[in-house]
Amino acid sequence: MAAILEIKGLKKYFKTRKGTIKAVDDVDLEIEEGEIFGLVGESGSGKTTVANIIMGLYLPTSGEIKYKGNNIAIPINKRPKWLKKEIQIVFQNPASSLNPKKTVRQILEVPISIHRPDAPLPQTIYELLEMVDLPPEFIDRHPEELGGGEKQLVAIARALSTEPSLIVLDEPTSSLDVSVQGKIINILMKLQKNFGLTYIFITHNLSLMSNVANRVAIMYLGKIKEIAKSEEFFTNSFHPYTKMLLSSIPVITEEEEKLKPKKILSTGEIPGALKLPEGCSFHPRCPFVMDVCKVKDPPLIEVSPNHLCSCHLYLNKQ
Ligand code: SF4
Repeated sequence: MAAILEIKGLKKYFKTRKGTIKAVDDVDLEIEEGEIFGLVGESGSGKTTVANIIMGLYLPTSGEIKYKGNNIAIPINKRPKWLKKEIQIVFQNPASSLNPKKTVRQILEVPISIHRPDAPLPQTIYELLEMVDLPPEFIDRHPEELGGGEKQLVAIARALSTEPSLIVLDEPTSSLDVSVQGKIINILMKLQKNFGLTYIFITHNLSLMSNVANRVAIMYLGKIKEIAKSEEFFTNSFHPYTKMLLSSIPVITEEEEKLKPKKILSTGEIPGALKLPEGCSFHPRCPFVMDVCKVKDPPLIEVSPNHLCSCHLYLNKQ
């Protein structure tokens, strides 16, 4: 399938008075049209910075980012209208992403009138509410009259309102009660299927990705450590960091337990962003660390078909 989004050598460094934070450091990614791509990592891994660059909220320090072959390293306020229509985002916290003074009708009619001026109103708003399983009477409610899950469904309806191709989902369920998370995921999956949408699903929740993503990439301190198709990622991961995170996911059935990698214990803490270690950034925590890991950063290479990993343990096994 064709790549809808291509990222090459992407870097985003932030200069602070105490030094430089390498939030994203030489990231290469290709997102295929129609796929659900899981971008996973702990807090501080750089995954949300990647999302912000895709949306034009940050400009890259260097590197390329192309959408359908067009350079999109353009700040959001200078982006052409077609680009704003095609790429949308759903943020983690709907309470802060929806204007509390506006009704659902007002929230949705602005992007519709800008990007689809011929779409009839209010019918199009009712259709959007139906798509996200919200009742029509919600049209004249304010966000404060809605529950957390309902607010997030309005945010999803707003993202859909421009008829986008690519939606960045930045931790879309992490701020919600567990009781509504499943419903939101089911609606997102239904919409992706019905409209052939491409999702970049950003999360720290690896077990969630095992159920929804086609491919998964894992980030650690600004770098991609492993990328694979979802099934391969969850049953045959290579990188010690991936194995460490997978081995700590709670499972319910014996079958799931058998598929889990053996427990890998980390030997240290995540280094501070201002003081990244030399060589492989995971080496202070890695139980398999070798001398070479402390001086050389391993490249991300294809270890088996379509399965990339950045680790010295696999450098000679291609
Ligand atoms: Fe561990 Fe070395 Fe692989 Fe880094 S390169 S994950 S330190 S074995």
